Amino acid sequence: MNVQTQIDTTSPRTTEHFDALIAGAGISGVGAAYHLTTQCPGTSFVALEAQKTFGGTWTTHRYPGIRSDSDLHTFGYRFKPWTSAPIASAAEILKYMGDVIEENDLAPHIRYQHTITSAKWSSEENLWTIEATRTDTGEKRRFTTNFFWMCQGYYRHTEGYTPEWQDMAKFKGPIVHPQKWPEDLDYKNKRVVVIGSGATAATLIPAMANDCAHITMLQRSPTYFRTGRNAIEIAEELRKLQVDETWIHEITRRKILFDQDAFTRKTFAEPEAAKKDLLSAVEAYLGKDYDIATHFTPKYRPWRQRIAFIPDGDLFQGIKSGKASVVTDEIDRFTEKGIMLKSGKELEADIIVTATGFHLSANGDIEFAIDGKPLDFADTVTYRGMMFTGVPNLVWVFGYFRASWTLRVDLVADFVCRLLTHMKATGAKKVTPQLRPEDHNMPLLPWIDPENFNPGYMMRGMHLLPKRGEKPEWQHNQDYWAEKDEFPNIDLKDKAFVYG
Ligand SMILES: Cc1cc2nc3c(=O)[nH]c(=O)nc-3n(C[C@H](O)[C@H](O)[C@H](O)COP(=O)(O)OP(=O)(O)OC[C@H]3O[C@@H](n4cnc5c(N)ncnc54)[C@H](O)[C@@H]3O)c2cc1C
Repeated sequence: MNVQTQIDTTSPRTTEHFDALIAGAGISGVGAAYHLTTQCPGTSFVALEAQKTFGGTWTTHRYPGIRSDSDLHTFGYRFKPWTSAPIASAAEILKYMGDVIEENDLAPHIRYQHTITSAKWSSEENLWTIEATRTDTGEKRRFTTNFFWMCQGYYRHTEGYTPEWQDMAKFKGPIVHPQKWPEDLDYKNKRVVVIGSGATAATLIPAMANDCAHITMLQRSPTYFRTGRNAIEIAEELRKLQVDETWIHEITRRKILFDQDAFTRKTFAEPEAAKKDLLSAVEAYLGKDYDIATHFTPKYRPWRQRIAFIPDGDLFQGIKSGKASVVTDEIDRFTEKGIMLKSGKELEADIIVTATGFHLSANGDIEFAIDGKPLDFADTVTYRGMMFTGVPNLVWVFGYFRASWTLRVDLVADFVCRLLTHMKATGAKKVTPQLRPEDHNMPLLPWIDPENFNPGYMMRGMHLLPKRGEKPEWQHNQDYWAEKDEFPNIDLKDKAFVYG
């Protein structure tokens, strides 16, 4: 008799309990685990991760050249020095995260191949019941936890977003989304068209250009890029002086953040001047005769969408060499041979890459319920982009787009650890954000103001996200420089927190 077939995989047989449960082992989940261990020693916790290993974004994306688009001094954690060039490959980032796990003995806390499917809160027990499915065996697992720390990222890892264009099926070659890069995709001496002009396209194109017959970036509209040497001068200087890496990390972070603050302010106060600076840097690579007005001059103000950093101008060097080119046009339909553009020109290709973005997945595709009632996060109002009205003992990590995501991982973790310590000291079993009497007439708005920040995946998924209020405490304001001072001063006795 086959013993395997006797195991009932449809309902969990045992329940494990942890003080805290972390969803995901990407850079946010691993950061949360580190902070719990160091700031709340004695707290039992587990991180459940759907993938086979840690890393999140940096394991699921495997396209050529995959690298960060912001510097690792700030994309890295504040507690673990980054000692290499600031723009890093996925492999380097994974090595760094692996070191954090090893140095802090976090591995025993992480369970891989566990996809969380549901999270149900019971006010009677003051507990979340979390159900997960093992991706290898299909087995159901049940956990209970006092505190649910959502570090599941913001997009669906299983599939990317590809718009439906007419006649896609007619195209004879492969159509590839960067989130599902086939390991054996042979692009040597092939003509490749990359649809999109975001950070992914800007990474793929220089990485593939030398091997392809030709690679074309096909964009509907241009994007801003920043460019410069893949090095931070102050870090290099300090290293020459043999300063300790911990100091170099901190000083370099401060310098980068100082410069980024100045740049961000300039984009708001003097958008035209900021735009001129960005475009002059592109012109320095491509020369005055290149049509920068058509291909690299966006219609929007700088910083309404993320600005990717192009190390050593490699994208522009590829264009200058003639191995890569940019076409700014719209897709009319696919053809057997490639793409027919609205201008009437046909762009021939052997391979088409759709670098067209993500499916927003705000809650990790987890089914939520509070006391038996299904929870729709769109019905809640966010407390500083990390907690939600009416949702007890839950924090959600949504990082920055205008600064490195991870800066917020550390800030939110400090807050959570302070909150857990406060609850332990006061004997509180639950904390639920709620609008205060003075907030009740506050207009409720979409999660993010499109005038402020408007990438496609956000606009497509805005209806799924919680609401934002007018006051700073009821919004995720994307301003690290304000939040770094505000977060440590959040008054845990504020009426926005209801304890029980
Ligand atoms: C190609 C690329 C490059 C980027 N570069 C930068 C950059 O340079 N700088 C920057 O600031 N940001 C960058 N970003 C944004 C980036 O996603 C974040 O900065 C960061 O990596 C997010 O980390 P995270 O841990 O919050 O989420 P993720 O990396 O998305 O990890 C979340 C993890 O949670 C797991 N998970 C999700 N749902 C469940 C579930 N139901 N059950 C169990 N596990 C679950 C996932 O499997 C995943 O491993 C980039 C994004 C992409 C796609």
